[in-house]
Amino acid sequence: MPLLVNSSLPAGDFFPDHYQAARERWLTGLHSTPSCSERRDFPVPGQSPPGGGLHTDCAWLGARTASHVLVLIGGTHGIEGLTGSAVLLDLLTRLPAQLPESLAILCIHALNPWGYAWHRRCDAEGIDLNRNFIDFSQPLPANPGYRELRAALFDEDTARRQQVLAQYRRQHGQTAYEIAVSGGQYTDPVGPFFGGTAPAHGRRTIETLIHDFRLAQRRLAVIDVHTGLGAYGYGEIICDHAPDSAGAATARAWYGAECTLPALGTSSSVPKLGLLDYAWHAIMQAESCFITLEFGTLPTENLFDVLLRDHRFRARHGTQPVDHPDFPALVDALRAHFCPSDPDWRSQVLQRARTVTDRALEGLLS
Ligand SMILES: [Zn+2]
Repeated sequence: MPLLVNSSLPAGDFFPDHYQAARERWLTGLHSTPSCSERRDFPVPGQSPPGGGLHTDCAWLGARTASHVLVLIGGTHGIEGLTGSAVLLDLLTRLPAQLPESLAILCIHALNPWGYAWHRRCDAEGIDLNRNFIDFSQPLPANPGYRELRAALFDEDTARRQQVLAQYRRQHGQTAYEIAVSGGQYTDPVGPFFGGTAPAHGRRTIETLIHDFRLAQRRLAVIDVHTGLGAYGYGEIICDHAPDSAGAATARAWYGAECTLPALGTSSSVPKLGLLDYAWHAIMQAESCFITLEFGTLPTENLFDVLLRDHRFRARHGTQPVDHPDFPALVDALRAHFCPSDPDWRSQVLQRARTVTDRALEGLLS
């Protein structure tokens, strides 16, 4: 029997319109959550477009001494936080009056609040947090494919751009193409999938939480909610643990055979540098695992098109082009890709998030 309450999905829409509304609902929701025993707030400089500060708002639900912790993360990729917030808000409605003594839930709302507020995947420095978890004391990784494609990616002429990219795909294959574009690059702060040159806000926040809540000493189920890649409406359970590792075995045991591994080529995601996952893998005990719950929307080519359009636009007009007449249309295109307004998509997402969360809790407590 699931630990969390399985009421029918509420008719009300859990998906916020923008970051500021999400934050208000999240803080209000926590206020009326009896199991919320501690809150942590990690601000970043700047403001959201309607005004109001930018914060990663974290909450510890349950006993501080719990030996088992479910960690739910939303907004690692800024704009994808619209769905992360919906999943977190829905979780609050499903909590029993009291969690078992051995269980706590750590909720991380808006890990990249600037990107969330300004409708981007990356943060204010242009950093894709999910490429930022590398060892910056070592030489930065090279991505020769990205260097080769950089001029084409920023070409405003769509036909010419698509021709160069198609040629690259024919020559090197789809996987090599996706690694070149999205695998991570460390040379171009205005380009997509830039990993940064130092730890970003989101990484420092995660490292602080791991330290302060002594997460290395507890059993962990981590779920990082993303959108924009994979089959429309489906929530893919992506496991970036090494295929023969204890983490991958745990993920298969908890989530079943449908769990996909980029390293084995079974995922809609390709292997990547600097994932958030790696910080957690490094501290995890046996019978713990990290998964990305990736909700598909439109095809991968649309993802690249809309992201490149965003990067070209901000390279020309600044990262907060609030007064530019073409900005609203860009925001609409980004939102259409990362958080479709289709009610069927949204209810499928929440239902799937519930299923995956229940499996995580069942596995964690087994
Ligand atoms: Zn993402």
